[in-house]
Amino acid sequence: MKKYPKEGNRQFIETGYIWPISKSVTPDEMNTSFGPRINNNKWNFHEGCDLPAPLGTPVYAMHSGEIVSAGDGDNNFSSRHVVIQSVDPTNSKSIFLVYLHLSYIDDKNIKKGVKVEIGQYIGNVGSDGATYPHLHFEFREGTISHGSSIHPLIFYHITILPIFMVK
Ligand SMILES: [Zn+2]
Repeated sequence: MKKYPKEGNRQFIETGYIWPISKSVTPDEMNTSFGPRINNNKWNFHEGCDLPAPLGTPVYAMHSGEIVSAGDGDNNFSSRHVVIQSVDPTNSKSIFLVYLHLSYIDDKNIKKGVKVEIGQYIGNVGSDGATYPHLHFEFREGTISHGSSIHPLIFYHITILPIFMVK
């Protein structure tokens, strides 16, 4: 993990992930981030980031890894989804990259047990199980189970960490 020189009270780190729509190493447009939010007039905890995009926009692997789940909504995932298992470069734990609401999965190449490369096309933005077309993505650490999500922006090139958080 590369650390860049401190700039004032900020520091930039590089962890080797790309943004799932633009392939940029920096975060791009998003409308709901990780954390508490009001949904249907109630507070809940949003476990990922939502990226609004036109129906059919291509979606890419944020990191190299292995497909551990891909397909329609099931008991574990509420919508058409892909999950890639990779390794967190900051602590070598398993990290599960979850993509939800897809309209289409590249089912020739994206199926359980198959390896994918960073930047590989995996499917398209949709509104399956959602009220508008967007990509919801999550980083689940240690286990694929719901409730293990951590903040996705930790994993991006220009993630801004106040100095007091940097050891
Ligand atoms: Zn979401």
